[in-house]
Amino acid sequence: MISTPTVSSDEPAITGNRVELQLLTTLKCNLRCGYCSLAVGEVLRSQKHAIYTAEQLEAFIRKHLADREVYFTLYGGEPTLNTGFILELMERFPNCRFNMQTNGTLLHRVPDKVLARLSNVMISVDGGEEITDSYRGKGIYRRVLGNAAAVRAKTFGTLTARVTWWGGETTFEELDELTRSFDYVYFQFAQGVGAHTPESVAKKKAVLAKLVAKFFASDALYPVVPVMGTVRNKVAPWRINELSAGLTQCRVSTNLLNVMPDGKIYPCPDMLYSKELLQGDIVGNWVKKSPLQPHPDMPCRQCVAYHYCRGNCMKNLHLAYVKNDANWRTQVTEPTCELIRFLGEEVDRHDPGGWYARAPLPVRNRLVNAEVYEFCEVMP
Ligand code: SF4
Ligand code: SF4
Repeated sequence: MISTPTVSSDEPAITGNRVELQLLTTLKCNLRCGYCSLAVGEVLRSQKHAIYTAEQLEAFIRKHLADREVYFTLYGGEPTLNTGFILELMERFPNCRFNMQTNGTLLHRVPDKVLARLSNVMISVDGGEEITDSYRGKGIYRRVLGNAAAVRAKTFGTLTARVTWWGGETTFEELDELTRSFDYVYFQFAQGVGAHTPESVAKKKAVLAKLVAKFFASDALYPVVPVMGTVRNKVAPWRINELSAGLTQCRVSTNLLNVMPDGKIYPCPDMLYSKELLQGDIVGNWVKKSPLQPHPDMPCRQCVAYHYCRGNCMKNLHLAYVKNDANWRTQVTEPTCELIRFLGEEVDRHDPGGWYARAPLPVRNRLVNAEVYEFCEVMP
């Protein structure tokens, strides 16, 4: 049984040796995606650009994170709408790694010296062209893929497609196609009521089965992160402890700080509306341990998937089992857990240990140590 969380100010704010500072550099966005999580609680556009200074951020890091590796994820809103602040950060923190999460539509306007400093660019799509354009606007899919191809030569980092997997229409072929344009494909099951009807879950399982089959059909690395992550967690389980102290692999309980433009810090970028989760403040120069922790009422420790899942999404679990939102539990959390368990069963059917034993050393190394795991949530 997971112990009841006791969050007190004398507990270390960060667990582990590194911390991801996810900076919402602006809450402005040039798109209006139908399901944007920041629209909940009217967070999107509620603040404009970051109002704390780079000096205040440096003072915060010096006081609270001095003995850790700090890396940045540039987030929004749409971070490419505030490249001036990004350049300032890159100059002030020349030794830090930078990751960017973008809708990809304005990548062509990002200065070359920013692109050259990015370790990874997460570019949002929703699957194939038709689905992406239906959520994001006509022509967006092609524009984004064109922009990704155009910046490829200007960055040393990896390009990762970040797919929100909504209904049952997304096909294996659409996800597979993205592996040709991107270094990695990360998908996350949509967190919205109505996304996971029984019919939609059945269709998603059929696609998952094909993704897993393709992963094991080759001794090259098929770069679909949740499949890679599931295999990694089964053949190299110690990596979960190294990267997120054995807790949720989005780092929200251990080493992820989301900084709003006004400097307020929250654990989860999807729950910025929840003032009770306030975790710190750049301007006030304080931070405490994440309040989003495992809770005795969450079913994870009794779950067969726990050894590789580790509580997937604390937001989903918190809403379902702490806030007791029955609608969320039955329509989002439980179907997502069903899909995660299915993913693990499919992986087990292909003997991941045997595959790993046969894999060439560079493939084994990439499966276990790929940097991309530090920039996304690992589990879907
Ligand atoms: S599948 Fe669901 S219940 Fe099981 S460990 Fe993951 S989040 Fe917890
Ligand atoms: S996976 Fe869930 S808890 Fe983690 S950052 Fe994303 S929405 Fe928040």
